[in-house]
Amino acid sequence: MSDLPIRDDLRGREPYGAPQLDVPVRLNTNENPYPPSPRLVEALGRAVAEVAGGLNRYPDRDAVELRKDLADYLGHGVTAQQVWAANGSNEIIQQILQAFGGPGRTALGFEPSYSMHPIITRVSGTEWIDAYRDEDFGLEAERAVAAIEEHRPDIVFLTSPNNPTGTSLPLEAIEAVLAVAPGMVVVDEAYAEFRRQGTPSALSLLPGNPRLIVTRTMSKAFAMAGTRVGYLAADPAVIDALLLVRLPYHLSAVTQTVARTAIAYQGELLGAVETLRAERDALVGWLRGEGFEVADSDANFVLFGRFADRRAVWQGVLDRGVLIREVGPPEWLRVSVGTPEEMAAFRAALKAAL
Ligand SMILES: *Cc1c(COP(=O)(O)O)cnc(C)c1O
Repeated sequence: MSDLPIRDDLRGREPYGAPQLDVPVRLNTNENPYPPSPRLVEALGRAVAEVAGGLNRYPDRDAVELRKDLADYLGHGVTAQQVWAANGSNEIIQQILQAFGGPGRTALGFEPSYSMHPIITRVSGTEWIDAYRDEDFGLEAERAVAAIEEHRPDIVFLTSPNNPTGTSLPLEAIEAVLAVAPGMVVVDEAYAEFRRQGTPSALSLLPGNPRLIVTRTMSKAFAMAGTRVGYLAADPAVIDALLLVRLPYHLSAVTQTVARTAIAYQGELLGAVETLRAERDALVGWLRGEGFEVADSDANFVLFGRFADRRAVWQGVLDRGVLIREVGPPEWLRVSVGTPEEMAAFRAALKAAL
């Protein structure tokens, strides 16, 4: 590659690379461990068969029916004109950077947070600015405001619940950011469905905040990571801006129908979310009982520590057939919430590894 006339700003970069290893228990990328039920698999098959006969034609470029379904799912009075969908929320974030970032512009996020925000930012030619969360992985409004006033970024990323810490932000922090941010404010709510009772969503702040973008995904709670559908809710003018940068026909007819079928089965899919939340809370309790430090989690994963040599612990757990994630602050590890059997395997592997 070094011989190629690649862009100077890409030289020396590493691609995104969470290990995809073939091990019995995979708890490293926050996937939903429950595959679609036989009933849903059958419905997905029927839906795909129905569009298959029309695959000689381009799909609905604006994914109108899917956006209606997503708006209904979101509630909060959100309309289809306020929703946009793409191939994963990563593509949503890329489109946001293409429309609102670019050379000469900046995006700011609060570390530790989702590694794809800086990666997508830089690939779009936008400068990335690191700001920092509090010691307990929360974000005090004053700290956030100070960082924004210092750097005046064109785009601010807030992740709530945050990855890899699981921490949610209070609405006051998001409102404080909206009040001072000179540009767009993106609240990444990939894990929204897993938040604990009483934890608010930034969707409630959409009215009156035309520069707020709330992103969601079907990869986690909806157990559709393989489908690649992410979406956002924002003022309709934001979507007009994204239409300028999206590729024509970016969401395939197969993707659109699979996503709509999954949404029609939301009762079943979100039932599993309840199970995962209970399993998450039990995991936090168990880890604390074992004497670990554990970040409060509103997501389907838990960040725990501290380890002088986390690589050794990660490897020890992996040697026992359980893949977790070496990510986030240096002394911590992240484990996704799986089935009860997978969590039992994780607990046993961790104890044995130590
Ligand atoms: C998993 C995750 C996403 C989802 O990405 P997709 O492209 O929709 O699969 C987005 N944001 C955060 C913070 C995540 O952890």
